[in-house]
Amino acid sequence: MSQRLQKALSAGILLGDGAMGTMLYKAGLKPGDCPELFNQSAPEKVMRIHQEYVAAGARLVETNTFGANPIRLARYGLAGQTGELNRLGVTLARQAVGEQALVLASMGPLGELIEPFGEISQIDAQRAFALQAEAFVAAGADACLVETMSDLTEAVIAVKAAVTAGLFTIAHMSYEVSGRTFMGVAPEQAAEALAEAGAAVIGANCSVGPTEMLSVVRQLRECTDLPLSCMPNAGLPETINGVDTWPLSPAEFAQWGTKLVAAGARLIGGCCGTTPAHIQALAQALQGRLAEIG
Ligand SMILES: [Zn+2]
Repeated sequence: MSQRLQKALSAGILLGDGAMGTMLYKAGLKPGDCPELFNQSAPEKVMRIHQEYVAAGARLVETNTFGANPIRLARYGLAGQTGELNRLGVTLARQAVGEQALVLASMGPLGELIEPFGEISQIDAQRAFALQAEAFVAAGADACLVETMSDLTEAVIAVKAAVTAGLFTIAHMSYEVSGRTFMGVAPEQAAEALAEAGAAVIGANCSVGPTEMLSVVRQLRECTDLPLSCMPNAGLPETINGVDTWPLSPAEFAQWGTKLVAAGARLIGGCCGTTPAHIQALAQALQGRLAEIG
């Protein structure tokens, strides 16, 4: 499975998709609802989002499983459905995109801090990520994306769980404007620890826009030989009338995207606030350099 992803990464720039959450809210998800429950209650909406991204040019789509770990799902009384919601996430993506794109299974943070900063033991964290990883393998995901991580200990546990399950694993930390994660991790620290944990591709997503992410990608390029991946937000979020909005237009996002590629990103997509229009603009800006899926 991972061979297709590896092949694509050596053939050209691999174009990922944009935000899932932003699109789910547009499709009717209410604040406070469990986003991953849409895999069960509104599968056609999730599939349509994947299809819109592929139509925009994405050759890799991310599953709607970001928060589908048992610790986060417990907030909605859904911890018992961890396996089911993760398998469904992968299956829906595969059904939606067929052979046109690779299916990247999303694994986000637990949503609670791990000891010594919080209450969750490392063993419980490992079990939680392992449940997700096993479901991804069972449903036939092409690879796993550990993403939006702030705590390096948590990221390493997640990467090890995915690698142990047999998944080709991409690992992203989320860096703030300061150039470090919320928990104070610098890119070079992350690069070393994530590579040692078995990540095949490393990078960054969320939190900031492409402008701020550029220096992170440049730093990563200096401290690792692994392929780099990045999925920035559509700029720094602004709250207007109580609603989160992201300032970058598709054209502006695409302009910055080409700079990220010049800085060394091999896989590029978008995070919060990016839409199929952003991915389409990026596809146009990178025309002739994009990898096709074999
Ligand atoms: Zn994001």
